[in-house]
Amino acid sequence: MDVKQKKEGLGMTSRRTRNRLVARLREQGISNEKVLDVINEIPRHLFVDEALAHRAYEDTSLPIGFNQTISQPYVVAKMTETLLSGPPKKKILEIGTGSGYQTAVLAELVEKVFSVERISGLVKRARRILGDIGYRNISFKHADGGLGWENQAPFDSIIITASPRTVPESLLNQLADDGSVLAPVGDGDNQELVLFKKTGTEFQKTVMEPVKFVPLLAGTS
Ligand code: SAH
Repeated sequence: MDVKQKKEGLGMTSRRTRNRLVARLREQGISNEKVLDVINEIPRHLFVDEALAHRAYEDTSLPIGFNQTISQPYVVAKMTETLLSGPPKKKILEIGTGSGYQTAVLAELVEKVFSVERISGLVKRARRILGDIGYRNISFKHADGGLGWENQAPFDSIIITASPRTVPESLLNQLADDGSVLAPVGDGDNQELVLFKKTGTEFQKTVMEPVKFVPLLAGTS
């Protein structure tokens, strides 16, 4: 299969299945056209195992090995749309690279994405896939994302795609003025998507909706 075919996809990964996914996201309330366009363009089937490629444009999370999953497209769309609201964002820190799919969506919409993942096998995999597709505005790091990426701070926004009980203090400290953090905060089955907007030294908290993410774990593996 040549690269063009691979990118365009065949059969269940075709243009029509992607359009169906975007229509579904629209029905569920996603309204940012740039986000919808990007989801329509990014070949999500390249981020899942080949055996599951035929399910890549269903609105569902799927296994990516290492006991982790690629997030559901609706959740990726919702988080991206929320993150892009408010003042323009140039520099974003993502905690939990996973498959790299959310990373790709962000890389299409902002100038520079810094992404941290604690599982080395996933960092390698995401680096390869995103490199093959041709992204040049992503920096990867294998580390405990709870510590952030201090020497690249401050960030306009921080997105956490694994669930912390509370947002780590070190991440809040790496935000720019007017910056925001978006995170699935909670415990096991009790998680909600929360947006923290910084103004001066204060944080304004907005609770969005219930979500289900794997836990944010300390250390690396
Ligand atoms: N947005 C990703 C979601 C991946 S699942 C996607 O769509 O593919 C969450 C990821 O967070 C997992 O890969 C997990 O290993 C990672 N993770 C959990 N705790 C972490 C930590 N402290 N630092 C960095 N990554 C972490």
